[in-house]
Order: sequence, then structure tokens, then C-alpha cells
Amino acid sequence: MNCRDARLLLHAWLDDELDAADSLALTRHLADCADCTQRVRVHVQLRDALRKAELYRPASTKLRERIAAQLPRPAGLARAAVAARSPRSGWRFAVAALAALFVIAASFAGWQTLQLRRQDSNALIAAAVSDHVRSLLPGHLIDVRTSDQHTVKPWFDGRVDFSPQVKDLSAQGFELVGGRLDVLDGRQVAALVYRRHLHMINVFQWPGGAAIAGSAHTRDGYRVLQWNQDGLHFVAVSSVAEGDLQAFMRAFRGTPAPAGESTH
Ligand SMILES: [Zn+2]
Repeated sequence: MNCRDARLLLHAWLDDELDAADSLALTRHLADCADCTQRVRVHVQLRDALRKAELYRPASTKLRERIAAQLPRPAGLARAAVAARSPRSGWRFAVAALAALFVIAASFAGWQTLQLRRQDSNALIAAAVSDHVRSLLPGHLIDVRTSDQHTVKPWFDGRVDFSPQVKDLSAQGFELVGGRLDVLDGRQVAALVYRRHLHMINVFQWPGGAAIAGSAHTRDGYRVLQWNQDGLHFVAVSSVAEGDLQAFMRAFRGTPAPAGESTH
């Protein structure tokens, strides 16, 4: 894929509208092309900035009153109906209708934000799965191959602008294979690779992200777990059984296994 093709597909990709083949081709292009990656980053930043909740401003009482003052006075039939009540009830009705309108607008904005968040989350999961699949192609899995966490962590110094968490989970049955740089949904992320029997587990991490206690998804047969920890956002992807990926997350987060379950 060249840059021209990549740029034609970028928006569809960001909206999670590409099929697996195009998505894979584009992700591969982004991994090698700094220009297009920068372009994605700008789009993502713009999109994220526009979705900030602080952009929403409820109307002040003064503004409501001013709008109410400019509404036409009830005429004809409406006036006859209103005349039976106090002379001010027309105003009250206008203000109440306006207030209702604001409530509807606010709920719609909330609903829209929720939809956008959902789309965001879907796009992220799709990107994580396609990065995982790409990482399994020959020569793509790791940039630094070692089972030593003390080698992997310093390797990321100067390559990413945060300090990634690298954990030795061999005692819990997850062998650290190595790490690499990756691009996920327009962000540069640190990717760690662990092995569970014959399955690979990719753990992507980057600073920030929406607070998530732990959410599980299945996409194209892969399991995806997301969580937040110490100011970092984590996404783990693998073809291991769901229980194994949950066990991995618990091991990584350092939370004990629920009673009656054992990791082996
Ligand atoms: Zn390019």
C-alpha cells in the first residue's frame, strides 16, 4: 500500500469501517510510514478534542429568560386557552417548554457521547486485534527478544515517552517473550509479548485513556481485555481461553485470583 491509498482509507479506518484485509494492509503501512502515522495522530487528536465533555455548555438562566422574552406571545386559540389561567401562565409554559427542550438536547448530547465512546472502543478493539494478527506474521512479533523484564523495560527508554510496565509472570505461567513498538489507533504504544503454551498474548500500553475497570470483548475469534492501571491504559489480545486471559490480567495487575480458581 502506498501513502495515497493509505490516506484514502484513513477516515474509514478511524471509524472502524474497513474490512479485515484493508485494515491489516493499512496497519502495516502505518507501522512503516511516519508521515501517515503523524496524519492519523492529528486526526485522533482533533477527534478526541471535539469529544471533550467540557465543550458542552448548558444555557444560563439569563439566556433562557432572554430567549423566553423573545418568543411570540400566545395568540388566537392559544390566548383564549391561556386567558382562563393567570396572565403569566403563557410565560411559564414557554419557559417549561424551553427547559424541556434543553433536557432533550442534553440527553441527546449524552447519548451521542455514549455512541461515540462505543465507536471509539470498537475501533480500538478492532485496531488491537489487527495489530495482534499482524504481530504474528513472520518477523513482526518483537523488536527486543528476551525473557528478562530488566532488558525489555530499558529498551523502551527514548522510544516511547512514558515508562511502560514490564512484569515477570513466569511463576503464573506466562512467559515474557519480548517487546516492540507499535501503533494502535493512531497512538504510539509499547507492546509486550507473553506466551501461554502455544498462544501469544500481546499487551499494548500507553498513558491515559478512559477509566475502565476491566472490559472483555471477543472479536474475530480473539479475546480482548482492557483495563487501567497506574495512569496507563492496557489492552491485552490473545487466542487463549477467556479464563487464561483473565488470569493473565489478574497476574499483570497483581490482583489475587477469585476463590476456587487456580492458575497453572
Ligand atoms: Zn504513508
